[in-house]
Amino acid sequence: MALWFSPLSVIAQDAKPPQTVYLTAKGIVDPVTGLYSQNPAILIENGRITNIGSATQFPAPAGATKIDLPDQTIMPGMIDMHVHLTSSPTARRQNRLEQREVITGVANARKTLMAGFTTVRNVGAARYSDIALRNAIADGDIPGPRMYVSGPPVGIIGGHCSDDTYSPPEDNKYGENVATGPWEMRARVRKNIKYGVDLIKTCSTGGVFSKGTVLGAPQGTVEELKAIADEAHARGLKVASHAHGTIGIQNAVEAGIDTIEHASFLDDKTIRMIKKNGVFLSMDIYNTEYTLSKGKENGVPEESLQKEREVGTVQRESFSNAVKANVKIVLGTDAAIYPHGDNAKQLSRMVEFGMNNAQAISAATNVAAQALGKDDLIGRLAIGYSADIIAVKGNPLDDITTLEEVSFVMKEGKVYKGQ
Ligand SMILES: [Zn+2]
Repeated sequence: MALWFSPLSVIAQDAKPPQTVYLTAKGIVDPVTGLYSQNPAILIENGRITNIGSATQFPAPAGATKIDLPDQTIMPGMIDMHVHLTSSPTARRQNRLEQREVITGVANARKTLMAGFTTVRNVGAARYSDIALRNAIADGDIPGPRMYVSGPPVGIIGGHCSDDTYSPPEDNKYGENVATGPWEMRARVRKNIKYGVDLIKTCSTGGVFSKGTVLGAPQGTVEELKAIADEAHARGLKVASHAHGTIGIQNAVEAGIDTIEHASFLDDKTIRMIKKNGVFLSMDIYNTEYTLSKGKENGVPEESLQKEREVGTVQRESFSNAVKANVKIVLGTDAAIYPHGDNAKQLSRMVEFGMNNAQAISAATNVAAQALGKDDLIGRLAIGYSADIIAVKGNPLDDITTLEEVSFVMKEGKVYKGQ
């Protein structure tokens, strides 16, 4: 039987007719050059950009579906590098049932996409709720951003990455992915990879929202962190480490971790190390305002509020110093600490604390794509890239807050908002 003929004929029968979209707008922002151009036209076929230029350069091909946004500026869909879609500020403690967390994630995924975020990196979810959510979005069952997910974080017993936060000790409950020593850490990484994660999340200091942990105190040894990084890198995955305190940040950099989350206490030596190693910083400098104003009514314990008071101002100073030093910084907001969908509010704080508008846009697009290792697919609008396109009224290079009101969202060539 000529089996080798069958796949070809099956593909031919099942192939969908090519979907061609011709998109025009008033202007376009290119995050790579930081420049604005008028009258752009983009040709999209089967979800990918196949031509881009000025509308005067190339007209709409016959049969193409036309979308015109005559009073709007288009740019690549934004990327938030630090979210937890399966939890919310008011639901963190109650949603302990895995199935409930996935449903929370369905609602949050939609809000995030509609806010102009076509890609997110989800850095920490209980069990594998993030994988279920990612797959449901990828299968087209529910609307949401393209997700890169870590599964349950890998870390030390009783540390920030342990999921027993808020549990009394008499429960004798250990975090689901905690371990001791390099080989056990490697085993946890392997387990996460077995279940289909896209990256590994670890923690190298205490955190604001974990009971009894100290922000400045390192967690895990360099040896343990190195085992996590090496194991992940060998399998082609990147590693994000939660780290507030200086020593924990340095340990993560020394271990070869790819992105530092929060990065609150940075001194000159640490900034030099980060730069030398090409590490990306993901600094959540918006959510402190939300936690300090709404945390109490949302049931955040005083211990966490106190830690947030200690860290908020220092983190913003560190952010300014990192920008001055030209460190690679991505937009990472820690959505879940504040309501999903407000992600773009952090952009104005990034401008307030040292970036220009073009740098902030870049942090949310092409630099984030680079940190994900997906800079050949997303983060800019160019031939061959995914048609992840958003539009706003006005020009975000003049006013960064325009990105808080995204009026059009397309992901992989499909329009979700604005038509
Ligand atoms: Zn987080």
